[in-house]
Amino acid sequence: MTDVAAASIAYQNALKVIKSVEPRIADAITAELTDQRGSLKLIASENYASPAVLLTMGNWLSDKYAEGTIGHRFYAGCQNVDTVESVAAEHARELFGAEYAYAQPHSGIDANLVAFWSILAHRIEGPELASAGVKNMNDLDEDAWETLRKKFGEQRMLGMSLDAGGHLTHGFRPNISGKMFHQRSYGTDPETQLLDYDAVAAAAREFKPLILIAGYSAYPRRVDFARMREIADEVGATLMVDMAHFAGLVAGKVFTGDEDPIPHAHVVTTTTHKSLRGPRGGLVLATEEYAPSVDRGCPMVLGGPLSNMMAAKAVALAEARTQEFRTYAQAVADNAKTLADGFLKRGTNLVTGGTDNHIVLLDVSKYGLTGRQAESALLEAGIVTNRNSVPSDPNGAWYTSGVRLGTPALTSRGFGADDFDRVAELIVDVLTNTTPGLTAKGVPGKAKHVLADGVSDRVHAASAEMLEANPLYPGLEL
Ligand code: PLP
Repeated sequence: MTDVAAASIAYQNALKVIKSVEPRIADAITAELTDQRGSLKLIASENYASPAVLLTMGNWLSDKYAEGTIGHRFYAGCQNVDTVESVAAEHARELFGAEYAYAQPHSGIDANLVAFWSILAHRIEGPELASAGVKNMNDLDEDAWETLRKKFGEQRMLGMSLDAGGHLTHGFRPNISGKMFHQRSYGTDPETQLLDYDAVAAAAREFKPLILIAGYSAYPRRVDFARMREIADEVGATLMVDMAHFAGLVAGKVFTGDEDPIPHAHVVTTTTHKSLRGPRGGLVLATEEYAPSVDRGCPMVLGGPLSNMMAAKAVALAEARTQEFRTYAQAVADNAKTLADGFLKRGTNLVTGGTDNHIVLLDVSKYGLTGRQAESALLEAGIVTNRNSVPSDPNGAWYTSGVRLGTPALTSRGFGADDFDRVAELIVDVLTNTTPGLTAKGVPGKAKHVLADGVSDRVHAASAEMLEANPLYPGLEL
């Protein structure tokens, strides 16, 4: 348990010190706390880290360069960074039951890049070096090097489509993964909007990917990773799972057996700041087989590790190993179910008809709104969400037809079942009282919204009651 009185003094003094150098930054930090304390945060990828985690980020560990790996650095004096990275990796291995953990990635996207290049190194570079009879890439002659570079560029990745809930880093063109790999997507069943494993298997048989990637940013259901591994094995693919969104539910043992990616995947990546409730950052977990190539993340794609952030990951992972965190993770899933039921009983359409993870994806088209209009109307009423595509979205990825909601943050504040039912009621109140705004030509557009008079005040008042009853960082005097 955090010593709240000590944390209050720490923050008050820290802000004094910052204010003496750049008051606008101290003010922005304080204003951010006020804003977060005063709004209903339903962004599925956000959370509230503990004061212990937050305080671990701001210190002199940040000043140390430590490129390399534990005990094998390119700089002198890395003994304390070695301790920090070892503790983070130890907690990650034990929490998730992984054979190997790599705590250096600075973010989820970096963790995925490390994973992609590690898989390429293990599957393509290793055999190529062996056939050339050399151990080190630098010993390849120019022709062999060109052959290897060409082979890297020929590899394929099969991942979930963006509009079914996949992530940009899973092989899509705006991201480097789409430039590295030939990509194909698997979607969801057009009727049920659920993952269709037979269709994934058929796509894998035809496309023969090097990497089959599972995981999502906006799919409100659990995934059968045992089935995904069967598919990967059948076509000789490496199964990589990106659990950035649901790592907290894996850590908290809500997802077990076939729903736990660790026993089934060759490589698992995650962020540490979403449902896991840690600092912003990434982790890679792997089997022994892939460990040596993952360990080359720095210098393969990463520069010097952020030692202060690895330290904060270690503290967050220590917290996630407690019974208290398991209770929290179960509440995140239970609250998502209550939230989804709250919408269904009020007639709102949900993608897949419900949820069994931490995400609820609203399809707002029946309210005559785009996702963008719904998102901005909700924000006007003090409810922070983000718009999101729905499967086969007629409004595309910018305007969208959906709004994604998540329960991790408000559950961290202590919101329970009654609160989440009330949240559904407030959101439906906003959606039913919003109409599309007019474009410059005087016709209803896709961007602007008009929220009926009085709704914002009514919703703000109801939210304030719940927010006051469940304060953010209770006892923290700032
Ligand atoms: N992977 C998934 C599934 C995500 O949802 C996200 C972020 O939203 C990322 C990776 C990227 O994480 P980051 O923003 O830390 O780079």
